[in-house]
Amino acid sequence: MKSNYEFDFLIIGGGIIGLALAFNLATYFPDKRICIIEKESDLGVHASGRNSGVIHSGIYYKKGSLKSIFSKEGNKFFRDFCIKNNIRIRSQGKLIVANNEKELEGLFF
Ligand SMILES: Cc1cc2nc3c(=O)[nH]c(=O)nc-3n(C[C@H](O)[C@H](O)[C@H](O)COP(=O)(O)OP(=O)(O)OC[C@H]3O[C@@H](n4cnc5c(N)ncnc54)[C@H](O)[C@@H]3O)c2cc1C
Repeated sequence: MKSNYEFDFLIIGGGIIGLALAFNLATYFPDKRICIIEKESDLGVHASGRNSGVIHSGIYYKKGSLKSIFSKEGNKFFRDFCIKNNIRIRSQGKLIVANNEKELEGLFF
């Protein structure tokens, strides 16, 4: 039996990264004890709670790069997660205009 202060995982920082990590650890290891240490009085009050709220598509990253692939997959994953968990998301799209033929190539990925 573990004391109140014994944990299997200790996460420092309760922003989106720390919370996502905790969520996944709890999913994969339901019997493990997880502790999140947050220096503020609430969670997500720094970058995670004050960003622009954009779900990036990855279009600005080099085609086929890990960043681009990760953004694309993350975009879909995040949308599915919101829908599954009744979190409101607004899909308003984005209009990107190519200035020339070369730029046009980058818009299809
Ligand atoms: C202006 C701005 C706009 C952005 N817009 C977007 C966007 O539109 N879309 C997008 O996807 N991303 C955006 N980002 C990026 C995104 O917000 C960050 O990448 C993401 O929130 C980082 O999450 P994090 O958990 O690493 O950091 P944070 O959310 O900053 O969390 C770190 C946490 O750790 C805590 N902490 C720090 N030190 C300690 C300590 N010693 N002990 C205990 N706790 C500690 C902090 O209090 C904080 O709560 C934006 C970022 C900024 C700054």
